[in-house]
Amino acid sequence: MAMEMIKGLATTLRELGKKPTTVSYPEEKRTLPARFRGRHVLHRYEDGLERCVGCFLCAGACPADAIYIEAAENSPEQPVSPGERYARVFDVNLLRCIFCGYCEQACPTGAITLERIYEMSSMNPEDLIYHKEQLLEPVGQSTRGSLDAWSATPPEETNTPLPGRQGYFDGQEASAAAVGQGDLPPETEILIGRGKPEE
Ligand code: SF4
Ligand code: SF4
Repeated sequence: MAMEMIKGLATTLRELGKKPTTVSYPEEKRTLPARFRGRHVLHRYEDGLERCVGCFLCAGACPADAIYIEAAENSPEQPVSPGERYARVFDVNLLRCIFCGYCEQACPTGAITLERIYEMSSMNPEDLIYHKEQLLEPVGQSTRGSLDAWSATPPEETNTPLPGRQGYFDGQEASAAAVGQGDLPPETEILIGRGKPEE
C-alpha cells in the first residue's frame, strides 16, 4: 500500500512542473489546424456574384443528407450567380452533418467550404439548421476560405509516394484499384495492347 502511495505521489510531483494541456475556454482558445473542418461558409466571387450555381452536387455527395437546396433560374438582368441557376434556398442541417468535407470536395465552383468556426451550440435544435443568409459571405467579402489550406503543398512527412506508383502495397503486389486508383493500365498501354487505330 505504501509503495502505491509513493508511486502516486511521484506521478503527481512529476506532472507538477509541466504546462497544463487544458485551456480555460472560452476566455482562452486553442489554435486550430489550418485544415480544421467546422461550420460551412458559402462564397462569392469578387464582383459579388454567388459562387453557388445550384447544381446539387454537394447535396448528392453528402452521406448524412444534411444539405437542402432549392435552385432557381437566374434572370439575365439581375443574375445572382454566373451560372444558369443559383441556390434560392441553401440549408445545412448541422445536427446531421459529420463534418466530412465531401460537400466541399464535390463543389465545382469552390462555393462551399468548411471553416474554422465551431462555436455553434444551442439549446434549440432549429438554431442548428443554418440557412443561406447565415452561411453566405457578406457582399464585399470574397474569400476562398479553407480551399487555400487544402490546395497548399502537404507537409513533407505526409508527401510520400502513393503505393500504387511503386506497384506494391505493404510489401505485396497489389492492383491499382486496391490503392484507390482504378485498375486500368495507363492509356498508352491500352493503345499498345490493342494496336494503334489506323491513321
Ligand atoms: S461536411 Fe459532410 S456531412 Fe456535412 S454537409 Fe458536408 S458532406 Fe454533408
Ligand atoms: S455549393 Fe457547389 S456543389 Fe453545392 S449546389 Fe452550390 S455549386 Fe453545386
